[in-house]
Amino acid sequence: MLIGVPKEIKNHEYRIGLTPAGVNELVAHGHQVIVEHDGGAAVGFDNQQYVDAGAEIIDSAAEIFKRAEMIIKVKEPQPEECKQLRPEQLLFTYLHLAPDPQQTQLLVDSGATCVAYETVTDGRGGLPLLAPMSEVAGRMSIQAGAHQLEKAQGGNGMLLGGVPGVEPAKVLVIGGGVVGVNAATMAVGMGAEVTILDRSLPRLRELDNQFGGRIKCIYSTRDAVEQYALAADLVIGAVLVPGAAAPRLVSKDLISRMKPGSVVVDVAIDQGGCFETSHATTHQQPTYVVDDVVHYCVANMPGGVARTATMALTNATLPFALALADKGAEQAMLDDKHLLQGLNVYRGVVTNEPVAGALGYAY
Ligand code: NAD
Repeated sequence: MLIGVPKEIKNHEYRIGLTPAGVNELVAHGHQVIVEHDGGAAVGFDNQQYVDAGAEIIDSAAEIFKRAEMIIKVKEPQPEECKQLRPEQLLFTYLHLAPDPQQTQLLVDSGATCVAYETVTDGRGGLPLLAPMSEVAGRMSIQAGAHQLEKAQGGNGMLLGGVPGVEPAKVLVIGGGVVGVNAATMAVGMGAEVTILDRSLPRLRELDNQFGGRIKCIYSTRDAVEQYALAADLVIGAVLVPGAAAPRLVSKDLISRMKPGSVVVDVAIDQGGCFETSHATTHQQPTYVVDDVVHYCVANMPGGVARTATMALTNATLPFALALADKGAEQAMLDDKHLLQGLNVYRGVVTNEPVAGALGYAY
C-alpha cells in the first residue's frame, strides 16, 4: 500500500503521524511511504532519517493527498485537507467528530474511509490509542504543577519532595485511571506525599497493590474531596466519566478555601474540567489565578512534549496501521472488532453511533 504522512497544519501542532522507526516497519512489510518535507523536523526527525528508514520525501501536502492510499496523521484534518480526500482513500488519525459538524460533513462528502484513533477499543474496555496521550498528560501534570508551585509562578513555594528535615508537598490526584496513575507515579518519584481518590473500589484495590502502601488510596466522596483538597499543595484533576462531561468535583467555594498559592492542574479540561473555576488555557498562556489558587488547564498537554508524544503515539498506532496496510481497510476491520470500532465515516455514511446521534445523521 502507498502510505502518506503529511506535515500537521493545525496551529501549534508539532507532532507527526509516523516516526522514522514506524516508517521502517511499514517498509519492511513491503509498503511504500511518502512523508512531507520537514514533516517531523519540529520534533527532531529530519528528512534524512525518514529517507534512511525507506521513505520518499515529498515537497507538497497536495501531492501526498493525491497519491497516497492511506493517510496517517495526528490531528483531525483541517478543511483544506478534508477537501483533498478521495472516496478510495483511507484516513487514520484523531478525529473527535462529535463536537465538530463541519469536519464531519466534509468527511462524509469526501467519500473516504475514516478511522479515528480515539474510538479504537481493546479487550479490557480501554481506548488503546488515547491511553498514550493520557500517560503523557498524567506524567506532565506533576512536572507542570511542581513548576507552578515555585514562588515566581504564583505558587506557595513548596518543593514537591521537600528535603531531609523538611516535609514534602501534599499532592491530591482525583481520578485513578491512566492519567491519575501516571501522575501518582511521578509525584511519588519526586518524593511528594500522594493521595488518590477514585470512586471505583476495584481500581483503588489495584492502585493500593501497585504502590505497595506508598500512597493513600481513598474512596471519592464529597467529604474526601473537601478534606484532601484543603490540605493539598497540588491537586490534579484526572476524572473521566465515559461519554459525559467531567463532573465538577471541586466547587468555587472549595477553591476559595484552599491554601493560598496552592496549584490545581485540570487534566480533565478537555471534557470540561473537574474544578468549577476551570477554563481551557494554552501552552502560550497556561495559567491563571482564582482566589490565590494557580490554575493550569491546558487542553492539549501532550503537544507541549511533542517528541515524546509522537513516539508514544506511533508505538500505539503502528500495529493497527500495519494491519490496515497489510490486509486493506475492509479486511483488517472485519478481522478485528476493536479496530472496527474506530470506523467513524465510511463511504459517505457516519458509522459511529454517538457521533451520528450527536450530529443528527442516520445510523
Ligand atoms: P480513565 O478512564 O483511565 O480514568 C478516569 C478515572 O476517573 C477512573 O478510574 C474513574 O473511576 C475515575 N472517576 C470517575 N468519576 C470519579 C469521581 N467522581 N471521583 C473520583 N474518580 C472518578 O481516563 P484517563 O485516560 O485517565 O483520562 C482522564 C481525563 O484526562 C479525561 O478527561 C481525558 O480526556 C483527559 N485527558 C486530557 C489531556 C489533556 O491534554 N488535557 C490528555 C489526555 C487525557
